[in-house]
Amino acid sequence: MTTTHNLGFPRIGAKRELKFALESYWKGQSSRDELKALGAQLRQCHWENQSGLDLVPVGDFAFYDQMLDMSFTLGNLPERVRGFQGDPLDNYFRVARGRSAQNAEAHAACCGGGVAAGEMTKWFDTNYHYIVPEFTASTTFKLDATRLLDQLAEARAQGVKAKPVIIGPVTYLALGKAKDQTRGDADKLALLERLLPVYAELLDTLAAQGVEWVQIDEPILVTELDADWKHAFNTAYHQLKASKVKLLLATYFGQLQENQHLAANLPVAGLHIDAINGRDDVQPLLNLLPSHKVLSLGVINGRNIWKTDLAAVLDWVEPLADRLGERLWIAPSCSLLHVPVDLDSEVKLDADVKSWLAYALQKLDELKVLAAALNNGRASVKAELEANQAAIAARRTSPRVNNPVVKAAVATLDAALGQRQSVYGQRSPKQAALLKLPAYPTTTIGSFPQTSDIRHARSEYKAGRLDEAGYQAAMKAEIERSVREQEALDLDVLVHGEAERNDMVEYFGEQLDGYAFSQFGWVQSYGSRCVKPPILFGDISRPKAMTVEWIKYAASLTKRPMKGMLTGPVTILNWSFVRDDQPRSVSCYQLALAIREEVLDLEKAGIRVIQIDEAALREGLPLRKAQWQTYLDWAVESFRIAANGVEDETQIHTHMCYSEFNDIIQSIADMDADVITIETSRSDMELLDAFENFQYPNEIGPGVYDIHSPNIPTQGHIEQLMKKAAERVPAERLWVNPDCGLKTRQWPEVIPALTNMVAAAKALRQAA
Ligand code: GLN
Ligand code: ZN
Repeated sequence: MTTTHNLGFPRIGAKRELKFALESYWKGQSSRDELKALGAQLRQCHWENQSGLDLVPVGDFAFYDQMLDMSFTLGNLPERVRGFQGDPLDNYFRVARGRSAQNAEAHAACCGGGVAAGEMTKWFDTNYHYIVPEFTASTTFKLDATRLLDQLAEARAQGVKAKPVIIGPVTYLALGKAKDQTRGDADKLALLERLLPVYAELLDTLAAQGVEWVQIDEPILVTELDADWKHAFNTAYHQLKASKVKLLLATYFGQLQENQHLAANLPVAGLHIDAINGRDDVQPLLNLLPSHKVLSLGVINGRNIWKTDLAAVLDWVEPLADRLGERLWIAPSCSLLHVPVDLDSEVKLDADVKSWLAYALQKLDELKVLAAALNNGRASVKAELEANQAAIAARRTSPRVNNPVVKAAVATLDAALGQRQSVYGQRSPKQAALLKLPAYPTTTIGSFPQTSDIRHARSEYKAGRLDEAGYQAAMKAEIERSVREQEALDLDVLVHGEAERNDMVEYFGEQLDGYAFSQFGWVQSYGSRCVKPPILFGDISRPKAMTVEWIKYAASLTKRPMKGMLTGPVTILNWSFVRDDQPRSVSCYQLALAIREEVLDLEKAGIRVIQIDEAALREGLPLRKAQWQTYLDWAVESFRIAANGVEDETQIHTHMCYSEFNDIIQSIADMDADVITIETSRSDMELLDAFENFQYPNEIGPGVYDIHSPNIPTQGHIEQLMKKAAERVPAERLWVNPDCGLKTRQWPEVIPALTNMVAAAKALRQAA
């Protein structure tokens, strides 16, 4: 018999119930008890949803984040929140979200005043963000198993076959940050000795409750580990092997590769691997794995929304089941946290596309069909398998998916497409002659405040209460407003302000063929925040121009250069659910060709500065460094295809929302944008070092205004930042601009901030 299990379930709720409950609690509109009750209700519902499985995860539910839960379980609270007197849940939210100094006084008596939030960062290569555990040399750990035991008791009361889920000690340390770091990773590794007894106590506590299996997540095993970390794995699991529970060591998101031997030989009772991304690990593991161990294969993709080709999985897994017998388990590849909950909620989704999809609940159904086929023969689930085959075949051959013209265009791509007519040194004087910009030219990153008027007009339009003409007029009024404001501010290169865009990816996806949009395809990004990635299902083409009319209108309102604004192919790709039937690179090239057409249409319409945002380029980097270059090669080539068809006089800008470029600077230079704007204000320009050391040849706009903060930067501060920038990059290649778009700010913040920014640029010109 093959055992079925699940690694984790999305906790946000099919209709984002947890999001709304959290936000209402944070606003003081509902009580802590109400929030806790909602949590219990969601857990109950999610366990019911998983009821047909042999083992169901418990402890995967978190009010904010599973890593933060683990920090509380291990008693690893940052010093600044220790000694808090109130309810632990409130302390938990203080670490998660911080408390501002403004509110601090009002709260000084009840909860100790202002406190900085824990740092948040991306969970491996997903779009989920966790709260980074903090360590110092004096960090100690102390078990608090309350949350886990409470949830276990709830699950048991409901008759759930519970498998508690925890983050393993090595991953926990590896993903944390040594706050008083002096010796790098050594500081963190030194804590292992203190950490392990707490893990041992936790496992004993669970054993005392009669728990048989515990899932212990060590996804760090799919990354490149140096000898110290490998050693830590051995130390940790040899120490934990005395425990009476059986450990299922869970890895996911990638391949074990050179860590296969290590993972196979740790003294645990079972190993789970991601058999979607790490399928090549399976054969070697069959030989490496000691014969008493369970091998759990993640055969259903927990990262995308496509139906599984069940027959193909069975063809592959049936022989393994014969060989492994009881030792074979099957599961989704990773926690289902990264997919939406229930496809049945989607009533508006295109019927064809819908028939090709599976959300979390449907993925669990697939798992059950696979188990039935393995345990009782394919005939026992004949109808299910036939329906699955029909959907898979329909998708494969659908004309909605396959566009021969697009396929041919990608098949015949050649490097010349990505090549500018001349090198930067030759085109830059031509651009200067055309644009006639001053030294330290000023610009913004694209969006201006999305006011409530704009949002209201859009929702009325979507609801059919505002007609097309009315909507156009409202957006044009906003564009005009932002152009007038920019002229009054005396900015040099203007933007239209992106009023008509709900979101920088969705806006383009909606206009491209090959994209679909869900209503309930929400995935947790962090805390109560969710994203609803558009679904790239078919070959991408652009039926008509997407931005030209708006930009032309904006340009008609001013004599100053108007910057056309587009989202780049890599960012569109990285922020979408993408196809699993062709390589990501192919989808990216298709997007690049569509954006290229838009760039050329803008140029034809007289727009001579065009920005192509690649906010998410870095996010797409593979987990393993060894695979970075391959990704960067096609990502950069895609950008070049999109951007570089223009004449020398047309100035290409790109924008990236971060400032770590050290390790990818060659690729950034290869993109060959005339101007790159980046986020630097919070790093005090030090991160420009990467550009300095590399002698980056083109122009740079290091952000001087932190748009995430409501604070208004002073002229003096901006001048100081620019002077630091000029120590690293020749002044004639510097631009002055904010860190990112201004859509989340209010006009009364934007005007004084940009006033100071323009004044700073003018002062720098004077001084030069
Ligand atoms: N042009 C976009 C804007 O200004 C860029 C946003 C981003 O980089 N995240 O909103
Ligand atoms: Zn940005």
